[in-house]
Formats: sequence, structure tokens, C-alpha cells
Amino acid sequence: MEPARTLAIAGAGIGGLTAALTLNRIGYRVIILERETELTEAGAGLQLSPNASRVLIDLGLEQSLASTAITPEAIRVINARSGRDIARLPLGERVSTRFRAPYWLIHRAALQATLAAKVRATPGIELRLGWRFDEVTDEASGVTVIQRRGMSYRAERVQALIGADGVWSAVRQQVFPEAGPRFSRRIAWRGMIDAAHAPRFFEKRNVHLWMGPNAHLVAYPVVGSGSINLVAIVTGEWNKPGWSEPGHAAELARHFTKPWDDFARALINATPSWRKWALFEVPNPVFAKGAVAMLGDAAHAMLPFAAQGAAMAIEDAAVLARSIETHPDDLTAAFRHYETARRARVSRVQRLSRQNGQIYHLKGVASTARDQTMRLLGGKRLLARQNWIYGWRP
Ligand SMILES: Cc1cc2nc3c(=O)[nH]c(=O)nc-3n(C[C@H](O)[C@H](O)[C@H](O)COP(=O)(O)OP(=O)(O)OC[C@H]3O[C@@H](n4cnc5c(N)ncnc54)[C@H](O)[C@@H]3O)c2cc1C
Repeated sequence: MEPARTLAIAGAGIGGLTAALTLNRIGYRVIILERETELTEAGAGLQLSPNASRVLIDLGLEQSLASTAITPEAIRVINARSGRDIARLPLGERVSTRFRAPYWLIHRAALQATLAAKVRATPGIELRLGWRFDEVTDEASGVTVIQRRGMSYRAERVQALIGADGVWSAVRQQVFPEAGPRFSRRIAWRGMIDAAHAPRFFEKRNVHLWMGPNAHLVAYPVVGSGSINLVAIVTGEWNKPGWSEPGHAAELARHFTKPWDDFARALINATPSWRKWALFEVPNPVFAKGAVAMLGDAAHAMLPFAAQGAAMAIEDAAVLARSIETHPDDLTAAFRHYETARRARVSRVQRLSRQNGQIYHLKGVASTARDQTMRLLGGKRLLARQNWIYGWRP
């Protein structure tokens, strides 16, 4: 097949699907190669800040996403010992008006399904499920992407490859073997409960963030407020790769004993089942080499404490397309442009995520100082500190 103006994307996660849409829009035929035989995003929630929702709206997805997303009114930051509010960061209309794009809470499966539906309805994009990327070989006029199957293989010749295959990226392993993921000594537990079973304290239109010694808990509504998504972050050494290891409630409960706030504990106890995964980051982001570009977690997996991992993958997809538009006849130059446009911002968000993780888990006098500072600043000024993230435009 003639590779000109055809790109392959390894991975049909949020980053890969968004990139297929942005790249097709600038006139490229796109083949998405996804190793799974069906698309089944983990059953968890996602916060989509305006910098990301803006890109998705621009792709014509506003109506379908708005019908399933929730626009929260505020983020409540709560001291896990006293159970008292430290600050409330106003979201809702304030954010939509200020940044001209909404802050959404959405089920990950709903976002992936919306993107996949759009991809399937777009004639210039082909989604191939059960096609695992194993190897890429560089040639003068493009690259060949290969899947090995015992003694045989299948191959696809394209102009360039985009590695969007997540934190354990096989593309990154081959092209940037030096840039491996690093374990953070943090473990995320996620669960979902029926909103009808939530304690009364829970405000059904708000994000709740409890900050406690060596652990924090985030809870927010998803799926038309019918369910509550819970993510508990604890410290530990368990570091098996993967996303969905069943977790025992009793093991988690050990991290949330008294004096943890009764309401947070009630939410945790009301959650019927848990899945856990070890948190890794790719601390030295990689973006491009020759005719291969990287995006999303494959390029720069980050800790989830700024709620920006998917948002950065979505931004990457927009900037990659814009960079190619700027250098239409030279993909290598376009990829260099993309790297220059992304490196500083992504690294800054990675740093913020690490810092937030430390701040959320402070103990003793340090946590008292943190709470006082946040109270003094107040919700509006705390929100204003996110301007550089939310106000971004492609
Ligand atoms: C606890 C937690 C909470 C989070 N909360 C938020 C949040 O609120 N807001 C936010 O913006 N982000 C959040 N994130 C981050 C976000 O989930 C990720 O950054 C985002 O999903 C990454 O998308 P991706 O497309 O790069 O990778 P992935 O979603 O991992 O997709 C990679 C795809 O590649 C496929 N694949 C893998 N290997 C191959 C191969 N060899 N060949 C072909 N296909 C392959 C996989 O099957 C998968 O479909 C959170 C993360 C965690 C851990």
C-alpha cells in the first residue's frame, strides 16, 4: 500500500482515538492498531478540565459528551481528620464562562465509546482491533509496523507511526529503550457505588477531596449522578504492572482507620468492590524520533494528582495535528515542532502532579500549615492557580 498521507496509531485509548480524529481532520488516512479485541475502558471516572473539553468540543463531540457528563459545582477540599472543609474551588458556570469550555466529570467508558463511535463513523479512519504492535522498522519513505504471530507476521507500511499505547508502551520500549516507567510507591484503588447508598454528607454535584496522612480520597458523581466514583491513593510497595487487580476492602480499610473522617470511611465501607493499580510515571518524557511520534501515557505517564493525564493526551493529539499542518511536507520537522511545543508544558504538569501528591499526604504541623495556607488563599484564588492549565489553547 502507498504509505503517503497514511499514519498508523498504536493504541485506541483516549489519546489514540483523539489523535485519529485530529489527524484525519487535516487530511490524513489513519489506521488505529489496538491489541485488544474489544474496547473496554476500565470502569472509572475521569475529570476533564476545560483545556481538554475544548479540544473534544472542537471535534464536534459536545452534544454526545454533554449528555453523559456532569458539570460539578465545586471541588471540596476536606481535612481527613476533622472532616471540615478547608476550601471550596468553584467550578460550574464560573469555569465555563472564564475558560469558554466546561469542566466535566465523565465515565471513562462513555468517553472512549463516544470517541470510538466518531472514529467508526469517519471514512478516513480504520480501527483494527486484535492488532498488537510488536515492532517498527524505519525506511526511507516511511515505516513498517509489524505484528509477530509465531513464525509469521502481519505488516503495515505507513508514512509515520504514533505510539499511543499507554504507560507500558511497546513502541517506547523499542524506540526509546532508555525511557522506562518509574514506580511512585503509590497505589490507586478505585470503586464505584450507587449514589442512593452514599452517606447524606455527600454532595451529589461536587468533587470531594479528603487529604490525610499518607493517603487521600477523591469521590465524585458520574453517569448522570447515579453513581459515585471513588479513588483512594495510599502509599506502599506493591507494584505489579496492570490496571485492574482485584483489591480486598479489608486491606484498603487499614489505611483509613480512625482518626480518618467518619464520612470518608462510610463512603469507603459502602463500596462493594475495589480494583487497584500501582502508579507509575514516565519521568523523562519522550516525543519523537525520525518517523515515530509518541503521545499520552506512552510519552509522559504522570501521577494522577492533578487529574491531567487524559487531558494531556488530548492536548497532545491537538498539537500533533497542528504541528503537521505547520510542516505539511516534512513529518520529521513536524514531529520536532510537536516536541518543542509539548515538552515544557507536560513536564510542568508532571511536576505539579508530584507536588500535589506530597501536599495531599502531609502529616502533623506540616499539614496544619498547609490547611492554614489554603484557607487563607480561599477557593477562588486556589482555582486561579490552575489558569495556566485550564486556559491552554491548541
Ligand atoms: C487513578 C487515576 C485517576 C486518573 N484521573 C484522571 C483524571 O481525572 N483526568 C485526567 O485527565 N486523567 C486522569 N488519569 C490519567 C488517564 O487515565 C491517562 O493518562 C489516560 O487514560 C492515558 O490515555 P492513553 O490513551 O495515553 O493510554 P491508555 O488509556 O493506556 O491507552 C493505551 C491503549 O493502547 C493499547 N495498547 C497497549 N499496548 C499495545 C500494543 N503493543 N499494540 C497495540 N495497542 C496497544 C491498550 O490496549 C490501550 O487501549 C487518571 C489516572 C489514574 C491512574
